[in-house]
Amino acid sequence: MKIDTICVQGGYEPKNGEARVVPIAQSTTFVYDSAETMGKLFDLEESGFFYTRLANPTLDTVAKKIAALEGGVGAMLTASGQAASLISITNIAKTGDHVIASAAIYGGTFNLFNKTLRDLGIDFDFVSPEISAEDLDKAFKPNTKAVFVETVTNPSLDVVDLELFAKVAHAHHVPLIVDNTFATPVNCRPFEWGADIVVHSTSKYMDGHAVALGGVVVDSGNFDWTSGDFPMLTTPDETYHGVVYTEQFGKAAYITKCVTHLMRDLGPQQSPQNAFLLNLGLDTLALRMARHCSNAQSVAEFLEGHDKIEKVDYPGLKSNKYYEKAQKYMPKGTCGVISVFVKGGKKGAVRFMEGLKLAKIVIHVADARTCVLHPASTTHRQLSDQQLIDAGVAPNMVRLSVGIEDPEDIIADLAQALDQV
Ligand SMILES: *Cc1c(COP(=O)(O)O)cnc(C)c1O
Repeated sequence: MKIDTICVQGGYEPKNGEARVVPIAQSTTFVYDSAETMGKLFDLEESGFFYTRLANPTLDTVAKKIAALEGGVGAMLTASGQAASLISITNIAKTGDHVIASAAIYGGTFNLFNKTLRDLGIDFDFVSPEISAEDLDKAFKPNTKAVFVETVTNPSLDVVDLELFAKVAHAHHVPLIVDNTFATPVNCRPFEWGADIVVHSTSKYMDGHAVALGGVVVDSGNFDWTSGDFPMLTTPDETYHGVVYTEQFGKAAYITKCVTHLMRDLGPQQSPQNAFLLNLGLDTLALRMARHCSNAQSVAEFLEGHDKIEKVDYPGLKSNKYYEKAQKYMPKGTCGVISVFVKGGKKGAVRFMEGLKLAKIVIHVADARTCVLHPASTTHRQLSDQQLIDAGVAPNMVRLSVGIEDPEDIIADLAQALDQV
């Protein structure tokens, strides 16, 4: 099936007489008629639902759709994008291990890595998203367990050279984890470029309507975990009577451990109601992404020529340094988010934002309604000046998330707000 079809039909094949639309299994628990079956479920000898923290039919169906969209062997929904990033790393790295991450990543991910996971003893090095293969190679240590990047970075909109990162990571027998939130599988499928694991904040384009928080981890099934560097996957897990994930689950070893180990122990499960809403969003993802991208292209071209604007970063603009890379990795378009640098410093940026009428100031991006955000004073306010520069966040930068309204109305709103700067 093509991607547009998977958006609508993927993951769910109702049988005779069953609901046409994925039903909400709003139940924490499930019934069995024998204790023996229940025991087998607990030992991972049989698969089935018994408690929603581990698995639920609604979550399972929506996860299957996303796995199909990304071309992976399996996926696990989480309560938020943050939980997905947390689990993607801690599934394979523990105290004493090391991870290489792009410096240009979502502010929340940066704090999770640089503070919380560092406090738990996982060491991180942050590298430029434009690092050369040679320098990336030098960043590896004997205890490096993963490389983490974003396809199109939030908010600086760098386009990462996925093939380069995958190649160098694989030379060190280390998986590449890609946060594909902004591109979505409609515009880019990182597994086709060598990525091993994909994570998303489904709170953004996948849900698309800003109604439900969520995240997802997707496993390509392609990474060979048996190098000896990932004992948590290749040696017996005593909490499941000595199961060895790579032996029992093969290509699905990583994603199975995400569910049976970390979802069980940490518990950041998505609610069935949110998964239902996410699935409604996925139905129209391909349609919406095309519109987000064409609207953003028109808006970026309008802003680039405006005399109140210092600079516009959008990979769809020919002037953008990532134009070629975007054409290679995302020929259908990147996303609807644009970074706008307003003349007059922070003051100019704030005045522009406060003059907008249609576009609202919110802490969100990537939904149907056009909105704006000032990263330096909100999502990235904890970062030091140097960290702000590394993450590509300037004081006069406004992150504009172009929605799916009529582009003429969006441009008219921006024009009248810029008149007031
Ligand atoms: C929003 C976002 C996250 C975090 O997701 P939540 O659902 O808010 O927890 C992670 N990565 C990217 C790229 C994001 O935009």
